[in-house]
Amino acid sequence: MRYISTRGEADTLSFEEALLTGLASDGGLYLPEKWPAVVPSEILEMSGKSYSDVAMRIIWPYLGNLIPSADFEKIITAAYATFDHDAVTPLVQLSKNEWVLELFHGPTLAFKDIAMQFLSRIMEYVLVRRGERVTIVVATSGDTGGAAAEAFQGLDSVDLVVLFPAGRISDVQRRIMTTSGKANIHALEVKGTFDDCQELVKAMFRDSKFRHDVKLSGVNSINWARIVPQITYYFYAAANLGSPHRPISFAVPTGNFGNIFAGYAAKKMGLPIKNLIAASNENDILPRTIDTGVYEKRAVIATISPSMDIQVASNFERFLFDAQERDAAIIRKQMASLSKSGRFEVLNGPEVLQENFSASAVREDEVIKTIRETISRSGYMLDPHTACGVATLASHRCSGPETKVVLATAHPAKFPETMHNIVASTVNLPTRLERIMTDEEHVERVENNLDYVKNYVRSCVRAAQ
Ligand SMILES: *Cc1c(COP(=O)(O)O)cnc(C)c1O
Repeated sequence: MRYISTRGEADTLSFEEALLTGLASDGGLYLPEKWPAVVPSEILEMSGKSYSDVAMRIIWPYLGNLIPSADFEKIITAAYATFDHDAVTPLVQLSKNEWVLELFHGPTLAFKDIAMQFLSRIMEYVLVRRGERVTIVVATSGDTGGAAAEAFQGLDSVDLVVLFPAGRISDVQRRIMTTSGKANIHALEVKGTFDDCQELVKAMFRDSKFRHDVKLSGVNSINWARIVPQITYYFYAAANLGSPHRPISFAVPTGNFGNIFAGYAAKKMGLPIKNLIAASNENDILPRTIDTGVYEKRAVIATISPSMDIQVASNFERFLFDAQERDAAIIRKQMASLSKSGRFEVLNGPEVLQENFSASAVREDEVIKTIRETISRSGYMLDPHTACGVATLASHRCSGPETKVVLATAHPAKFPETMHNIVASTVNLPTRLERIMTDEEHVERVENNLDYVKNYVRSCVRAAQ
């Protein structure tokens, strides 16, 4: 399996190279040359299989000849043994045709663990084999940084630097990043917004000397190895709900378009998905694009579902490339237009989008109402991100008779203040996370200053020494 860039001007890479490179050298994102197929009889056989067995079947063809199958099996087994539910991603029924797929049973209570627990292990495996060490720098709006800190802690081949915006994430989110106690994890609290953190990271990647000196690598969802493991749970859930004989729709809380793009990939591999529904909060760039065919950036609005407060959905580029006949010249034009004027038009307008997705934006009052109503109708507590998914099902466009699955992307205990305001009761952390509220925090408070941050990174990471 080889990987090509959406912008068509970077080298074709193996999985190993794409894993270590992250963003393509032409600014594009890597995609497999073609989609591996899963046939209906295999989907039938997945029902009743363990999560790890399904993961092995789905991820394997993407790896090429990266790794012997016995080593791969060890990595998958260890990655999903960190989850505190036997099913890894259990299904919970809300009503007759409506299910929640809980993706938050990993060590940091958000679905990012599903990809990160795999990514850290496969990266460590590859780096040890190469005798190399890298520095991973990542900006986070809350969940990615914690999942990365947990997954990379204590690894000899990786130093991790997480940049997070001061005062804009919950105490639980911050403490997951700052209480690991491991010397290779560095949490930087930046005086600024998530966008400022993101810009600092991008600027470090643009500086080729710095990039080379510290052997910079990335683990946000532009890295293809973040997307692949997420394809698994679409197959796993669908197979357990009667696929391929029964059509299934998925509602997906969406920010950077990574999670829902994994659903699109599942469909391309042969999973009969009826409808993929992107659920946004008030940051509605995707619903607007799907309605009008015009992708247009606006200012970010702060909401109670902060992990979806995003206006540039990076992974959307992967879908555009695949849906526009994989013509990189069109992508280059659209991305140039985006950076020049903040907008571009999708080829063939809304039709090509609506063939693949529907979407709605959920207002804050609807999120709150949905959380309260779901508790009273089924006794189930949604977090604010998942509530956006449940709310989209209530909208008329998604009311078919088929089985519907909402992806639950975070545990409500990750947002205790918000949940307390909505449901007027306390949501307890699972026991294994209780320690973070009392363990000592290690955090460096920094100004939004590129030179300072770069010097800090140089001074603390082992790859530069
Ligand atoms: C990251 C995140 C999302 C958005 O996922 P994308 O892959 O960026 O679309 C939704 N909910 C939660 C809780 C998240 O952490």
